[in-house]
Amino acid sequence: MNLKLQQAEFRPQLLINGKLQDASDGKTFALYNPATREKVADVPEATADDVNAAVAAAKAAQPAWAKSSPDDRAKCFKKFAALLREHSDELAHLEAISMGRPVKSYFDAYAAASEFEHYAEAWATIQGQASINTPGFLTMTLRQPFGVVAAIIPWNVPILFLGHKCAPSLITGNTVVLKSSEKAPLTSAKVAELVNEAGFPPGVFNIISGHGMPSGAMLSSHMDVRALSFTGSCRTGRLIQEAAAKSNLKKVVLELGGKSPSLIFEDANIEKAVKDTAHSLQWNSGQVCMANSRIYVQKSIAPKFIEAFKTHFAKVNHGDPTKQETDMGPQADEVQYKNVTRYLEEGKKSGTLALGGTGKLETMNGYFVEPTVFLDVPEDAKIQKEEIFGPVANINTFETESEALAKANDTEFGLYASVYTKDIDRAIRVAKALESGYVGVNCTSPQTARDLPFGGYKASGQGREGYLHSMDNFLETKSVIISIAEDGL
Ligand code: NAD
Repeated sequence: MNLKLQQAEFRPQLLINGKLQDASDGKTFALYNPATREKVADVPEATADDVNAAVAAAKAAQPAWAKSSPDDRAKCFKKFAALLREHSDELAHLEAISMGRPVKSYFDAYAAASEFEHYAEAWATIQGQASINTPGFLTMTLRQPFGVVAAIIPWNVPILFLGHKCAPSLITGNTVVLKSSEKAPLTSAKVAELVNEAGFPPGVFNIISGHGMPSGAMLSSHMDVRALSFTGSCRTGRLIQEAAAKSNLKKVVLELGGKSPSLIFEDANIEKAVKDTAHSLQWNSGQVCMANSRIYVQKSIAPKFIEAFKTHFAKVNHGDPTKQETDMGPQADEVQYKNVTRYLEEGKKSGTLALGGTGKLETMNGYFVEPTVFLDVPEDAKIQKEEIFGPVANINTFETESEALAKANDTEFGLYASVYTKDIDRAIRVAKALESGYVGVNCTSPQTARDLPFGGYKASGQGREGYLHSMDNFLETKSVIISIAEDGL
């Protein structure tokens, strides 16, 4: 396998007030290709001054942007969408060399482009309401932007999240400061180059790179940031919520982690259930918030399901993420690799290892992890309770529907759950009982629908994103009551 991947061909910079620039103190951090461990770029580490400059630029640009015709805003959106599509191959390559995402499954640029196109047309649905239910008054509500919005995104599907957050916040008249993840900053930096070309006025759409400290934390506690949309871990979500509470009580939307269950009943289409559940854990090397990492199979079909799952899961083409034939790349970086391999060792102590179980750093010279299956994992084991974020399936069995539900719901997470059965009554009963923001019936993650709300129950998050829901996250509601002189009647 040839893992000699080329050096990124551009120099990542911050976009602040329409200017591409280095960090104010010139500092950078090194980014390494997880498949080869070669350095691919020096990335600017935004300083406190950079964060303040980006927020100040966004604040200064916001009134004029909010006053502009939504049609004019939409023009930038459409140009931007076209540019994202045009640069999709380059973005796919940058993601592959920075966090190991196979180019074969790269869809983010097209998805983000569709998002900008959707919101370019959706502005007319930003509507308040009016009534004459209060005698002597006309009452109405106005929907208005918050002002400056911060978007903090993770590394696993960066440009998709950039689209999810920036398109609805910008079309509603807010201005934005987006911070990319330190593990996958190259695609956001590339997108920063396209912002001016699309015609966004300076200061409207700012993009910075850096670690949680200082830039992420500063955005969370910044007094001029009025709303913050975050996707990432529960740990960081809590810190952001706390920083928001301690500063200006900014509105916070949180899309957090998961430990998603999939319930396979004995009347299910086993072949489909095997294919779907294995794909859910292989996609992006299992680094997906909604991956079905806990699989529960009814006892009567367990031997058949487990054999088929192991065969299917092991078959994956593991290797160089820049190659079209690769299905599964490495874990995103050394930290992720160490986390996952630590969980593998934990798993060997608590469950029964049925497939894989090792990291391949020694043999492949990159952060690759074998597709791994554990059986009979105690429900209170660390690997059953915590998010592993790797290609690791825990398969347990159950006898009855109520037992399956009790096990599925015995978690602090609640992002995605799925049920496989041909019994329509059971499917609906189980879908109702699962404590989860999303339920797949005879399908599982990453299957979603763009017009459905996405978000978590319990510690998996707060708020919902989706084509019909995201604009609400970035709009205040103002009530206006107008006294009507009725003397003339
Ligand atoms: P992370 O929480 O480590 O980092 C996410 C972002 O937060 C990064 O940009 C990081 O720099 C920033 N950050 C770190 N510390 C911060 C702080 N103190 N203040 C503000 N920002 C800070 O998460 P990650 O490892 O990048 O992503 C993986 C996690 O994201 C997993 O838990 C996964 O389940 C979750 N995720 C959730 C969804 C969803 O839609 N619910 C989608 C994808 C990923």
